[in-house]
Amino acid sequence: MDALEQTSAARTDYNQFASDNYAGICPQAWQAMQSANTGFVSSYGDDPWTERACQQLRQVFETDCQVFFVFNGTAANSLALASLCRSYHSVICHELAHVETDECGAPEFFSNGTKILHVPGENGKFDLAEVERAITRRSDIHYPRPRVLSLTQATEVGTVYTPDEIRAASALARQYGLRVQMDGARFANAVASLNVHPADITWRVGVDVLCLGGAKNGMAVGEAVLFFNRELAEEFDYRCKQAGQLASKMRFISAPWIGMLEEGTWLKNARHANDCAELLERNLVGIAGVRVMYPRQANSVFIELPEKVAAGLRAAGWHFYSFIGSGGARFMCSWQTTSEDVQQLTAAIRSAVAGC
Ligand SMILES: *Cc1c(COP(=O)(O)O)cnc(C)c1O
Repeated sequence: MDALEQTSAARTDYNQFASDNYAGICPQAWQAMQSANTGFVSSYGDDPWTERACQQLRQVFETDCQVFFVFNGTAANSLALASLCRSYHSVICHELAHVETDECGAPEFFSNGTKILHVPGENGKFDLAEVERAITRRSDIHYPRPRVLSLTQATEVGTVYTPDEIRAASALARQYGLRVQMDGARFANAVASLNVHPADITWRVGVDVLCLGGAKNGMAVGEAVLFFNRELAEEFDYRCKQAGQLASKMRFISAPWIGMLEEGTWLKNARHANDCAELLERNLVGIAGVRVMYPRQANSVFIELPEKVAAGLRAAGWHFYSFIGSGGARFMCSWQTTSEDVQQLTAAIRSAVAGC
């Protein structure tokens, strides 16, 4: 059995659209990690795999950025934000942003008190007028000074910011002396969805720092932090070490990136996950009593389901999240989701609806 067959076989008895991090490690990442498992190699990132992974990221992003590898997205976001702020500063983000709702205060903790200010906006994207209001609301010494605009790409509700939207947000941020950080836990899905060069939605439109997701894209562990503005990376290595985010056997975190990037596996995985979500959306719009909540642009579909239907679906063994509002269910696709999975879920939803 090859690696893909093994992961697929292990999956078949578990019906889930809960998260893309329920998926296994994709074969390319797995094989790249295995190929780094040769003898003694120097530690803490001073190795040929880490060097090559950094070079490949620079090629993919078409710029000479500074690259760091950390274990997870919470660390990537928190340390990146901490490096852009002083303790009395604030970070502006959407009210559903992961840094606000799902990181247990880590950005505030690692920055020694920087405050997160959240603003509303439709479809998971912040409204620029609200951002400007948050920036200009106060200028006195009693208010935490806005210093960073943080945006999530793709967003927490599966939409994507267009290059023009990012450019406008960055321009506004610049106008008030703010820096721009991007939480790219699902950045690959956004690139695949927009069909753009990675640079076109990052440094070319004013993003200073990108936290690039690896785990949800098909790796075991590991996210990359890319500083397009190299000056902002000063002493970031110390921050990583102090936070317990410097891997001693770094080659096993960095080598999988080589497997993901060469031959475009990261984008193939993302495109596949997006296509599965698109198929699911197409199936669901035809079912009475089911309403798709947000424009489906990446690898998730959010639907409004009556409580009884959701309960029926869970009773039938399906796993999914419903944490956004009452009745909202999130179905997330990954590199490992198959169109057969999508068809089975569709049938299960259809019969749960019929049974109520
Ligand atoms: C999953 C995710 C992260 C990272 O979460 P970790 O569990 O810390 O790796 C960051 N941002 C968003 C939007 C995510 O969905």
